[in-house]
Amino acid sequence: MELITEPAAWRRLAKEHRRRDERIGFVPTMGALHAGHLSLVEAALGLADFVGLSVFVNPLQFGDRADLEQYPRDLEADLKTAEAAGVGAVFAPAVEEMYPAGQPATVVVPGPLGQILEGASRPGHFAGVATVLTKLFSLTGPCAAFLGEKDFQQLAVVRQVVFDLDLPAEVIGCPTVRERDGLALSSRNRRLSPGERSAARCLHAALLAGRASLARGESPEEAEAAMAAVVESEPLARLDYAAVVEPESLRSPGPAPAGLLRLLVAAFVGPVRLIDNLPARS
Ligand code: AMP
Repeated sequence: MELITEPAAWRRLAKEHRRRDERIGFVPTMGALHAGHLSLVEAALGLADFVGLSVFVNPLQFGDRADLEQYPRDLEADLKTAEAAGVGAVFAPAVEEMYPAGQPATVVVPGPLGQILEGASRPGHFAGVATVLTKLFSLTGPCAAFLGEKDFQQLAVVRQVVFDLDLPAEVIGCPTVRERDGLALSSRNRRLSPGERSAARCLHAALLAGRASLARGESPEEAEAAMAAVVESEPLARLDYAAVVEPESLRSPGPAPAGLLRLLVAAFVGPVRLIDNLPARS
């Protein structure tokens, strides 16, 4: 497996694989790889001839400096994990390689989809995500890009950006990988103390409570209240939002909702902000 740190070398490598008529699968990550990331690699290996994975903790998408500084980083371990999983090459550029002039003068600002929910709680977050992915897709060139449904709003925003800007990536969403007790795998889980780890189950429990509420025929507002109540009953957790939305617009459902509703939750558990989501029915 190759390790590449220079953007130009990554572009060359991808081009070389395409020249050989190989289909490229691309898995963008911020590292601290876990089984959720590996499920994306597995999906990519199933569809592509060559799988590239990026590891880049993108400062542009962090509003909170402490969150950026405390974000887990372990490139050595990530390289071993990626190689064992069958990744062909890892792109792990330094911040100065991706943003040589510091803050870039041009950024990609997603429209309304990026302003609500996570976008409202973390102003500028999706502009950071959209900018770095636009750069990564531009460097990688035509590819199938594998993203997790764990970050459901991010997936929707990225699909929109790819559509609006004609980026050469086919975005493929992959299901969320969970711990046995339902907690969605996340690099941020590493920062939870044992007590917080146990409390973090409340996110998944809240989603199940919301689902059960809808299944009983209750309204989306009642389902949101049921979700909120579960998080609020956990002393170590602090609710950010609990929302029931239409899956594409991510807006509160109208009288005739389009598609299977999605339940989304965000909460701090101790100092760590976690998000999760589920469809209204399995
Ligand atoms: P991150 O490194 O957290 O930026 O995540 C990189 C990619 O992995 C994103 O597309 C995430 O949605 C995806 N991902 C993160 N956690 C999971 C999970 N538990 N299951 C599936 N995909 C995930």
